[in-house]
Parts: sequence; structure tokens; C-alpha cells
Amino acid sequence: LAKRLVLSETEVIRTLFMKGIMANINQTLDVGTAKMVATELGYEVHAPEVVELALKTEMIEVDDLDKLQRRPPVVTIMGHVDHGKTTLLDAIRKSKVAQGEAGGITQHIGAYHVDVEHNGQDQQIVFLDTPGHEAFTAMRARGTKVTDIAVLVVAADDGVQPQTIEAISHARAAKVPIVVAINKVDKIEAQPDRIRQELTEYALVAEEWGGDTIMVPVSAIRGENLDTLLEMILLVAEVEDLQANPNRTAKGTVIEAHLDKAKGPVATLLVQNGTLRVGDIFVAGAAFGKVRAMVDDRGARVDKASPSFAVEVLGLGDVPAAGDEFEVYLDEKQARAIADQRTMDQRQARLIQAMASRRVTLGTLSEKVKEGDLKELNIILKADVQGSLEAILGSLAQLPQREVQLRILLSAPGEITENDISLAAASSAVVLGFNTTMAPGARQAADEMGVDFRDYNVIYKLLEDIQDAMEGLLDPEM
Ligand code: GDP
Repeated sequence: LAKRLVLSETEVIRTLFMKGIMANINQTLDVGTAKMVATELGYEVHAPEVVELALKTEMIEVDDLDKLQRRPPVVTIMGHVDHGKTTLLDAIRKSKVAQGEAGGITQHIGAYHVDVEHNGQDQQIVFLDTPGHEAFTAMRARGTKVTDIAVLVVAADDGVQPQTIEAISHARAAKVPIVVAINKVDKIEAQPDRIRQELTEYALVAEEWGGDTIMVPVSAIRGENLDTLLEMILLVAEVEDLQANPNRTAKGTVIEAHLDKAKGPVATLLVQNGTLRVGDIFVAGAAFGKVRAMVDDRGARVDKASPSFAVEVLGLGDVPAAGDEFEVYLDEKQARAIADQRTMDQRQARLIQAMASRRVTLGTLSEKVKEGDLKELNIILKADVQGSLEAILGSLAQLPQREVQLRILLSAPGEITENDISLAAASSAVVLGFNTTMAPGARQAADEMGVDFRDYNVIYKLLEDIQDAMEGLLDPEM
């Protein structure tokens, strides 16, 4: 089951445990229990009899399942401002990457990797080096998960702060395990135990206190205990059992992208499955690309990048957005068609957004009148019956109209239709409804075209709003 879910056995066993089922790794689960576990872990179970499971991450596909190999963890450093995230990132990099290695200058591409000797093997850890959780959150909001482990930095002289708590929530929401780095222990005011104490309030209990959260005291500035921190990250990675299939076409996420005057569009791609090679044809977001050259985080030209590694790639036709997914295609025509389609979709989305931001409301109209740009307030009025229409029109006519004139573009009994909305959009009018409803499609049209419609069932309320708006239109000085 764990294999089908692309999760560690521990996670499945933990879920069972939470449900009061003590299971060991060799036990057989019945279909009902397996279904319950899968649902609990956020999967959709399609056919309960067969327990066919939709894969949680799109990065790993069913065909990969029997070809998975271990991959390095991708780590994000999070924590409150000034607690030492940047210093820690720099210190780790410096401690592990010899200056001028691979003949290049170390360069910032949004991620770097370090080599760590662990269990007698040379292993890697990849750090996303945009500190703070903004990038992390932005990517997660777009449904992309790039981080495997979060290192939560807490300054030992300052304790848990608002962004510390935010970081914990973000990591939890993304189901990313947390390793705590208690930083600045070199300071006289440092009180590492106070940090451990404060973190218990957020259900992070240090291992040495009988909990299951690894907490490592470090001094980023002096480079102290960084090896232990790295060791612990690899330990957590082992438990997480991070895997990917390196023997397939690459898939992953754009972690940075910009337009370089000399090189054209440049993007840093984090490979999350498969292997990316020079010459590969890919689509990143809505951009078509062909890998012309790749540079790793140490400034070295490389011809391939395997799972969990980030490379800066040249050869894109356009600049994708950070958080966009990328995927390699064997068929260039297909890739171009996908990129074109997405470009069109994006244009349309932008158009809709632009229209919505030009939304005309009583408030925006009032602003314009204040600036002397508008002398007329356009109204479309729909009401349940002719009688109420006449009553409303009669009262509106009695409102003082010296500064601003009311212009009734249309008044009719009946529901608010898409046509009313387009008329309003075309003439910067607001739509007023009295005891009436919206026709199917009208509400969506109003959203898309940025039309303000107001719904009333008491006449004096409608009059009051219009009068307020018209008085708001008047210059208060006059
Ligand atoms: P960030 O905002 O979390 O990225 O924090 P910075 O890395 O910019 O660090 C904030 C301040 O704390 C800087 O002045 C650092 O020099 C200092 N600092 C960071 N780590 C340590 C440390 O281990 N010990 C001491 N004493 N100061 C540190």
C-alpha cells in the first residue's frame, strides 16, 4: 500500500496507529482498512474493490513505481526574520563547497547542493536558497510541492516569534517534516532550553525530551554543529524514503526565472522525477523550450541533472513563472501545441483579470466624479413588477441632480440577464435589482466583465444607496 501511495511504510503505520490499529510492516490490510488509510492520507479511492488509487503527486506516475530509486532531500530553511536563515544557508554552503570548485564561481541559481558523508556513503542534500516561506507558500498555493524537509531556524536569544509559528503552520499544512535549528547558541543570552520549552506549545517536542522532533543547537555565524544538522536532515530523509525514477524523461518545478539581456530567458529547474538532459524538449508553464545548455549551482556546465538537483537552463522561448511545472516531451510538435494552448489560456485569464480590475462600482464612479471626470451616473434597473419599477423611477427622479445626473439606461421588469450585464459593462453602469433574480450565466458574466450589481428588496434602501453615492460624488468643499 505504501508503495502504491508513494509514501513511506512509517506513514501508513502511523496513520493506522492514529486510528487505533496496531499494525506491523508484514501485516495484510483488508480493503476497507486500506481505503480508510488512503482516504485519510488525502487520496481519492476510485474503485473500493480494487483500491485503485489516484497518485498524490503528479511527479511520480504509476509506471515509475517499480523503478524508483532513492533521491536526495530538498530542504527549505524557514523561520522568523533575523533569526539567521541567510547566515545559516551561507554557512552550510561555505562549509561544504570548496571555493572555486568545478572551475566555476559558485553562483546563485535558487538552490545549491552539498555533499555529506552519511552511513559511509557520499550523500547529497539540496537547499532551496531563497530563505523565508514566501516562495514556499507561493509554490504551495499553486499546488506544487518542492520541499521534502523544512529546517526551522529559531534564535536562542529571541525565542518563538510570529513568523516561527507561521512557518510551523505552513510546513504542517504541506505535510513536510520539521527539523529545528536552535541558532545563535554562541550568544551569552542564548537559552536553548527555553526554545525547546516554547516549541512544545506547538506540538514540537524535542527528542531529548521524549518527543520526536529533532532539534540541533547551532551557531551559524561560527559554523558550529552544522555537520550534526546535516546528519539529522539525512536521517529524516531516510525515514521519509524519498524516491524518484531517474530513468525517464524529466519533470519538475521552475524555482526561479528571469530574462537575461545576453542569454535570453533563463530558468532554474528543479528536477523531481526523471533525468533532464541537454537537447531535451520541454514545456515550462506556458513556455516552450529546448535545453541548449545547463549550469549547476557550482557554475559548472553539465549535460544532465538527476532527481532533486537544480540546474539553470538556457533555451526557453519565454520566461515561465516560479512555481510553474515543467515536463520533457519526446514529440516537439506536441510540446509546441501544449505551450501554445497554455499561452492562449494565460492571455484569456489576464484579459478577464484586467476587466475585473476595471470594475465599475458606485465607489469607483464616485471617485471619478470627484476628479471631475464624470457627471452622469448610469443605471440599469430591473424589478419584479412594473409597479415597483415606476415607484423607484419616480423616487429617483426626485433626487437632487445638480452635480451629477442620473441616467437610466434601461428599466424593465424581469430578471437580470447577461444582456443587461454587457450593456452595463459597455457603458460603465451599475445594475440595480429590486425583488428580482439573476438569470443563469449573468452572475458569472458580471464577475468576468467587472460589473457591479446590487440587489434590493426595500425601496428606501435602494434610494439611500444611490443618494449616498451621489452625495459622495459631490466635492465636500462645495
Ligand atoms: P534572516 O533574516 O533570518 O535571514 O537572518 P540573518 O541571517 O540575516 O541574520 C540576522 C542577524 O543575526 C545578522 O546580523 C547575523 O549576523 C546574526 N546571526 C545569524 N546567525 C548568528 C549566530 O549563530 N550567532 C550570532 N551571534 N549571530 C548570528
